Amino acid sequence: MSYDRDNIFAKILRGEIPNDTVYEDDEVLAFRDISPQAPVHVLVIPKGEYVSLDDFTRDAPAEVVGRFFEKVSAIARQLGVDGDGYRAIANIGQNGGQLVPHFHVHICAGRPLGRMIARE
Ligand code: AMP
Repeated sequence: MSYDRDNIFAKILRGEIPNDTVYEDDEVLAFRDISPQAPVHVLVIPKGEYVSLDDFTRDAPAEVVGRFFEKVSAIARQLGVDGDGYRAIANIGQNGGQLVPHFHVHICAGRPLGRMIARE
């Protein structure tokens, strides 16, 4: 799947749509989810053009991938959710329930989150 520069996170990265930033540097942006599923719900995205975890880990340099995941856990510590715990989720593709085709990791926390996957 090729990267769609019109996706909503690309527009956020270009500053065309506002966001509630919790962390930003030259490689990543973390912002609060507009429709939170938990008391704390933050999205962490790389600034590079990657559709999902799949092409991110295939195409990005290993150091970029490593730094990205270090930052996900550092952002969780910054949010103060590491003590009680949290869930880091990457939805990939149609069956994964991915809605926005720019790679992102959800950090969800602030209450017990139950079992991993909701039963339909
Ligand atoms: P996913 O299903 O993993 O692709 O999740 C996409 C997430 O992006 C959802 O949790 C949405 O609530 C969230 N989202 C969509 N638009 C925005 C926005 N403008 N600002 C913040 N979060 C958004």
